[in-house]
Parts: sequence; structure tokens; C-alpha cells
Amino acid sequence: MSEKAANDLQDLQYFGEYGGVNPSISDSATYTFLSAKTMFDTFEGNTEGCYLYSRHSSPSNLYLGESLAALEGTETANVTASGMGAITAVILQLCDAGDHIVSSRTIYGGSYAFMKNFLKKFNIETSFVDITDMDAVAKAIRPKTKMIYCESVSNPLLEVADIAALARVASSNEIPLVVDNTFSPLTIRPASLGADIIIHSLTKFINGTSDCVAGVVCGTSDFCLRLKDVNNGAGMLLGSTLDSQRGASILKNMRTLHIRIQKHSENALFLAEKFEADGFRVVYPGLASHPGHLKMKEQMNPQYGFGGLLTMDVGNLENANALMELMQDKKLGYLAVSLGFYKTLFSAPGSSTSSEIPVAEQKEMGLGAGLIRFSIGLDEDIQRTYDHIKQCMEQLGILENKSTMQE
Ligand SMILES: *Cc1c(COP(=O)(O)O)cnc(C)c1O
Repeated sequence: MSEKAANDLQDLQYFGEYGGVNPSISDSATYTFLSAKTMFDTFEGNTEGCYLYSRHSSPSNLYLGESLAALEGTETANVTASGMGAITAVILQLCDAGDHIVSSRTIYGGSYAFMKNFLKKFNIETSFVDITDMDAVAKAIRPKTKMIYCESVSNPLLEVADIAALARVASSNEIPLVVDNTFSPLTIRPASLGADIIIHSLTKFINGTSDCVAGVVCGTSDFCLRLKDVNNGAGMLLGSTLDSQRGASILKNMRTLHIRIQKHSENALFLAEKFEADGFRVVYPGLASHPGHLKMKEQMNPQYGFGGLLTMDVGNLENANALMELMQDKKLGYLAVSLGFYKTLFSAPGSSTSSEIPVAEQKEMGLGAGLIRFSIGLDEDIQRTYDHIKQCMEQLGILENKSTMQE
């Protein structure tokens, strides 16, 4: 299934303008036409392979888009200037004023804020549901529902969506299933499970170097063309356009994605097993204790592991903050949001990336104040990393507290 993703990617081969092994970077905002008639036809969308203006498309962004379409097994893909640029364009393309969305309640804070707050401007309402409860999802659908939205592995709670089951509910209601696959590129291939539109924040694992923000929408040619439509396309008209230089640099980083994902997953599984054995509350889809473990195994491509993200609850925000500061001092990683970097990144989502979600709702979905989200790095010697984190915890007395925090 997703094994094919790596093959599809491997088979892509481009030549630069002068035979370079990397495609030439298209360093232009606009493109000349030898005949005025061709320019008119291009505006009308009738000239394949002609470029007009780089907000619409550019060669460098098309190369990156093709690679991402190969990754996800969709007909095509449009790259955007950020993950939110992809998410907002898809939602505004699919929904008119007064429409309705059914969304997972455990999603990226920005996506949540957009649906919950910003879409009020258009009187678009979202029902946030427990996405693992298929009855709740089906019941939430109304005549005006225009999509089901979820993350394959959710941020930050690492809930695993049953994509095939959600796709069945979506298609029986003739609406698309939109999946944000940012946490699990290569590991899960939502299109092969029936998802219609797949979104990534390229900022995270796919680029992997934490040097820019970018996003992508993968889907059918029809939908991606609608997004680019000069008269009515949310991608084209909202203007979230990726710069060509960045598009080219992300494409180059993408070529090591399969190796990086394997290493992130291997290291994360090692730490998750160790910390769980130590008695900590660890959430990681690779642990048998994770409620979505079996679903993950069923959906995943095993060669890429269970992903690089894990969470650990150290009881309270004070512990979490002290531990994160000390780990940074000891050069174990950075106290920073985001994910997919070569170094471990850690943050307390309750007071950062998910702070858009009201505290009462955070509690209800199991997001405690002492929860630390780790994006595990590419450390060569992960046993040493474990020993050093353990030393930090001992120094702060967090180990002694662990029995009280089990409650
Ligand atoms: C970071 C993130 C986003 C937003 O992406 P940006 O590139 O920051 O705009 C969306 N979804 C998930 C799951 C993310 O982690």
C-alpha cells in the first residue's frame, strides 16, 4: 500500500535546464508570451504547460507538487506558503456561507481556531466530535455538511483516525474526507484508504530542516484546478503562494524523507518503551497501551514505524517547564514548537500550540497541563539520550512524583 509511496517518489526524475540533476529554479514572477493570443488562451486555462504568473503556478512549485502527489498517491497537488494556507484554502473552497463542517475535536490549534472562530464571519459552523466514535461522526452530519475533517494522527494527543471507516461515512453522504497527514507522511497514505483530499504542513517532517513554512493540498486534478481558478479559486485568490526558491529547497530535503522518518520512529519507539517501563504516562501509537495502536498497525506501512511524536505527562505545568528548560540546557533539544527537526523539539501544548483550545475543552480531550509533546530527533545514540533525560528528571525529582501523577 504505502510501500508504493517510496517507489513512486524514487521513480521521479528531472533534469535541470542544462542537464543538472536538480531541476532549475524558476526565479520569475511573470512569464513572457511570443503571441498575445497564447496569453489569452492561458488565462482561459486552455494552454497546458504555459506559465502566466507565479501566484497561479511556477515550474519549481509544480515539481514539488508532483513529488507530493507521488508521496500521497493522488492525481496532483498544489503547494502553498504554509500548512494553514492549504487548510484555509480547502475549507473556503468547499464551504459557502451557512455551510457546516464535521471535524475531529483533537486537531492542530490553528485549524481549530479557524473553524471555531474565524469561520463565524461566514456563518459556517463546525461540530467538533470524537473522531474515533463513528456513530458520533455520522450523527453530526447535516444536510449542509460539506466535509469531514481530521488528522490521521492527531496533534497533540496522537489519536489515530480510522480513515477507511471515515471515508465510508463521507462517501455515503457524498461529501469529501479531508485528512491532515502532517504527523505521518509515508507511514500512512490516506488516499489509499479512501480519503479525498490530503493536506500537509510541509514545515514539519517533509521539509525537516525547520527553516521555512510551507504546505500542500493533494487531491484530484479537478479539485486542484478549482483551487487555482482565476475567477473563483481559493488558492489563487487568497494568495498563499510558496516562493519558488523555497519550493526547490523543500524538494531537495524531501529526498531523504524515508530515511529520516525511519530514524525518527525508531528513536521515538525506543524512548516511549523505556519511559513507559519507568512508570510514566506516555502516549505513543507504537505502544500496545495506546488506544489506537491496532488501528495504526492496520493502516500503516510498517517499514516507517509509528512516527516521531510522543507525549509524556509529568504531572503539572511546573514540572513540564522545569524539565524542558533543563533538557535544553543539557543540549538534548530545543524548547520550541513545531516538529520534524533533526534535534528533539519539546513544548507543553496546553500553554502553546493548543492554547487556542479553552482549558475546559483541553481537559475533556485529555490534554493535561503537565503534558509535554516531544518531536524526537535523529540522535545517533538514543540510549545516551534516554540516560540524559532520565538524569534531568532525577535532578528535578520528577521520578519521585510519578506515583501521584498516575491518578
Ligand atoms: C503545524 C501544523 C499545521 C499548520 O502548518 P503551518 O505550516 O504552520 O501553517 C497544520 N496541521 C498540523 C497537524 C500541524 O502540525
